[in-house]
Amino acid sequence: SAAAEPPPRLVIDLERLGSVPAEKAGPLARYAATIQSQRGDYNGRVLSIRQDDLRTLAVIYDQSPSVLTEQLITWGVLNPEARRAVVED
Ligand code: C2E
Ligand code: C2E
Ligand code: C2E
Repeated sequence: SAAAEPPPRLVIDLERLGSVPAEKAGPLARYAATIQSQRGDYNGRVLSIRQDDLRTLAVIYDQSPSVLTEQLITWGVLNPEARRAVVED
């Protein structure tokens, strides 16, 4: 069944993030930079994040997780498969 599938990977496209206007991208860019710093992962073109991080980002952006997910996909910074991480909740 669908419920038994593993959750999708959540992958932030750091190059695309750099081309999103700063007033939109700022909180996500700071969050991603913090994770990169904590991991010592500085050279990637993309960054895999935790499922919990999407919920945290929704609080930061004052949006529901599903609305934020759609925004990030529209900006081109989140893989569309990420929709599956929120629709089932
Ligand atoms: P932590 O959560 O105590 O994790 C310690 C180490 O366990 C991590 O060191 C990493 O080697 C491993 N680890 C934990 N969870 C995962 C996972 O889901 N996948 C993989 N591949 N490894 C995992 P690392 O990477 O140096 O991170 C150090 C600390 O930085 C972490 O301590 C955590 O506090 C923070 N951190 C790193 N990446 C993330 C992230 O994507 N989201 C959040 N919320 N915190 C992160
Ligand atoms: P994948 O998850 O499809 O990732 C494909 C490539 O995207 C990775 O190739 C890497 O170049 C990049 N990438 C994805 N997430 C990150 C990230 O958080 N930071 C950085 N710097 N790059 C990222 P790579 O490293 O050769 O890995 C190939 C495959 O090996 C991955 O495919 C995945 O299936 C597996 N893999 C690598 N690292 C981990 C890990 O920490 N945990 C698990 N479970 N699988 C991993
Ligand atoms: P991944 O490394 O393939 O891990 C897939 C899932 O396995 C994680 O989903 C988490 O539920 C579980 N997992 C893996 N390692 C650990 C661990 O050390 N402790 C715990 N409690 N659970 C673990 P999640 O959390 O949604 O993370 C998704 C992806 O984000 C990870 O895929 C990895 O690519 C990246 N990631 C998350 N946290 C860290 C971290 O602390 N350090 C690094 N280097 N990568 C992380």
